[in-house]
Amino acid sequence: MEQKTDLDEFEIPFAQRTYLRNTNSSLLKKIIIFSPFLFLLFSLTVLRFVENMEIASLNIFFPKTEKNQDGRILGHLPYKEISKEKLVLIEPNIEVHIDMKDSLLKMREEARKDGIYLVFLSGYRSINLQNEIFYSLKSIRNQVAFERARVSAPPGYSEHSTGFAIDIGDATQRETDFETGFENTNAFKWLLKNAAKFHFKLSFNKNNKYIDYEPWHWRYEGSIEALKVFESSNRKS
Ligand SMILES: [Zn+2]
Repeated sequence: MEQKTDLDEFEIPFAQRTYLRNTNSSLLKKIIIFSPFLFLLFSLTVLRFVENMEIASLNIFFPKTEKNQDGRILGHLPYKEISKEKLVLIEPNIEVHIDMKDSLLKMREEARKDGIYLVFLSGYRSINLQNEIFYSLKSIRNQVAFERARVSAPPGYSEHSTGFAIDIGDATQRETDFETGFENTNAFKWLLKNAAKFHFKLSFNKNNKYIDYEPWHWRYEGSIEALKVFESSNRKS
């Protein structure tokens, strides 16, 4: 009996020490087991934060966005607004970049000699005006941004704000203004054959996967400034 008591007294402190050591190691095991989860949780939190920051910065321009590395939004490249001193009025309500004025007027003149009557429908448009067009027409036509962007550029993404874009119609077939049917007019056929001589190019042809075909919309690439403006577009398309 006496021997057993001694043994008990000896064993209790030993068991306590073992118990304490076990507590430490099980805590360590728990940390090791859960550390990948903690790391994952931390990473997800950081990722969420970065994503929110990116979305917030894009939302300044456009609430619903599709963007890649060349800065396109819904297929449209960004364009700066031309400075006012480079704009010239070529007829009431039509302003264009001074670099393209002579070439554009000469093109209309040459067309007239061939019995073709070109009408200028729209030249320079400010980002504010583009904003009105994009958002008002979008709501009138009950379209979401993605649908509207197929036929009109979001503000800040229109070639018209550079002063180097011109929408052209046929004076003898005004019902085709801004319509795909413009491609069947004599004016369009003449442009296809002759516009390049005056440094004009069709911006949105039938192969563009984001933007609808716009036979009426031409851009000028006859000056260094114009080539710089459209460099990115010519490289990617
Ligand atoms: Zn246009």
